[in-house]
Amino acid sequence: MTASTPLTSLPSDRGGAPAAGTVLQGVPVVAGVQYGPVIRPGRLPALDDLAAAPELDEQDRPAEAARFTTAANVVATRLRDRAAHATGAASEVLAATATLAQDRAWLQAAEKLINAGTPAARAVVAAVDQFVDLFTQLGGLMAERVTDLRDIRDRVIAELSGLPEPGVPQPDVPSVLLAEDLAPADTAGLDPSLVIALATTLGGPTSHTAIIARQLGLPCVVAVAGLDTVGAATMVLVDGTRGTVTVSPDPVVASEAVADAKHAAELAAGWTGPGATADGHAVAVLANVQDGAAARSARETPAEGIGLFRTELCFLNRDTEPSIDEQAQIYGEVLEAFSGHKVVIRTLDAGSDKPLKFAGHPQEANPALGVRGIRIAEGNPGLLERQLDAIAAAADNTGNAPWVMAPMIATADEAKRFAAQVRLRGLTPGVMIEVPSAALLADRILEHVDFLSIGTNDLAQYTMAADRMSADLATLTDPWQPAVLALVAMTVRAGAAVGKPVGVCGEAAADPLLACVLAGLGVTSLSAAAAAVTGVGAKLSQVTLQQCHEAADAVLGTASAADARAAAMAALT
Ligand code: PEP
Ligand code: MG
Repeated sequence: MTASTPLTSLPSDRGGAPAAGTVLQGVPVVAGVQYGPVIRPGRLPALDDLAAAPELDEQDRPAEAARFTTAANVVATRLRDRAAHATGAASEVLAATATLAQDRAWLQAAEKLINAGTPAARAVVAAVDQFVDLFTQLGGLMAERVTDLRDIRDRVIAELSGLPEPGVPQPDVPSVLLAEDLAPADTAGLDPSLVIALATTLGGPTSHTAIIARQLGLPCVVAVAGLDTVGAATMVLVDGTRGTVTVSPDPVVASEAVADAKHAAELAAGWTGPGATADGHAVAVLANVQDGAAARSARETPAEGIGLFRTELCFLNRDTEPSIDEQAQIYGEVLEAFSGHKVVIRTLDAGSDKPLKFAGHPQEANPALGVRGIRIAEGNPGLLERQLDAIAAAADNTGNAPWVMAPMIATADEAKRFAAQVRLRGLTPGVMIEVPSAALLADRILEHVDFLSIGTNDLAQYTMAADRMSADLATLTDPWQPAVLALVAMTVRAGAAVGKPVGVCGEAAADPLLACVLAGLGVTSLSAAAAAVTGVGAKLSQVTLQQCHEAADAVLGTASAADARAAAMAALT
């Protein structure tokens, strides 16, 4: 999306509607199949109408500025109220949007324009556009906030214009929500009994839409090309496993697809672990967590342990480095939640889309290719050592000794230095394989460490030279890309040759079908968001190791992500 994206995209803007049976391809985010009529979010008056409003006379400007302040406050208060009534990720997303609605920088930019004679609605558009440009240039997490900013803009304009809040209409029958992009405030308030699936033209697998869809368990596909031409009330079949939206499908075929998916979900719900194929080949199914609370809720699932504890996520809001004691207490919570079970702690993966204030990141043109992950240790003497000391203390306090791995390893030397520091503290060292150079030299890295964990999110980003945050490039960062899977295969072979475990902890492990392919490639563990654990374990329990091998062989012979998916589907269903 560019900063010049219009405020509205009215149905009349759309080209001809696709023919019945057209299958639109996107990126699958949440598995499940649903069929229903389309609803689309409400629209505001076109930007052109706002541009036509005359300049303000001098004496009217203070009142207009006051009207703007009131409207912005009303919007922020409503968002905060909704945050208070929501739970989990939905509540956090709404609270973050409310905070952004009251951000002094954009409010002041709008006030300045009003005081210079611009009518409030037009000033809101111009002020938000300035920040959209800025956030887009900054990229990463900041670029992800662009959708939030536009949402705030639309809400404030609706308030100023005396219109109902823009957003998702309340349907009378269970419906499928299609949109260009969904504002967090829209998705967070969804009633899953009435909105049964989501699909968007924009958005990536890590967008807010995706996060909320996962929490609500709504089948979801993002980055769907051609979706804008599908109008309200059209019947569509959303397949969150294949990543497709079928326009006006045969109703009987569509209903059968929904019933089949429901049956598969029921089977999945009955799965209690441990992870193994139907013929008993063990593959540990683990959970990814970011703090003690997440670990405790992961403990409620059949997850056999923690395959990735993203420690940097504990400290995103911290200005100063937490003390060793404080860190030890936080890590200890996760170790305690999985007492007697495997826990893999990752050292700080700061930088790029996850900057930490206390890591002193340099200004960089390309932060994803800059000083991030293990590279921050170089410029921050003692930071890694103190974290390892804290992990060792947490191990002592809880009696659960974790495995410890470093992010963003690119060379065998980095692995060697890291491993020495971890062993010094009596812990088990490993590294993440997220950079193609590390996959290519996995055998030499394994001379120093005891295990590998493949981060397919970054491995896809760096293999395909495509920003994982970019919605436009979501088909390139798809972990089904055969080039990414070839590097996974290479890494797994290196582990097998020396009898050391190789797991996968990127989003690839959360996709039940791909998880079976990974098992066929030989990975020894799969670590995914807690919500994905049951689906992954259940699918694995329904296929044989032979089927997994066949699927793995088949995907390695394909030349596109779509072909890889189709080949795996043929071998595994
Ligand atoms: C990955 O890159 O796949 C990974 C698990 O790390 P993160 O998503 O935290 O970068
Ligand atoms: Mg990563």
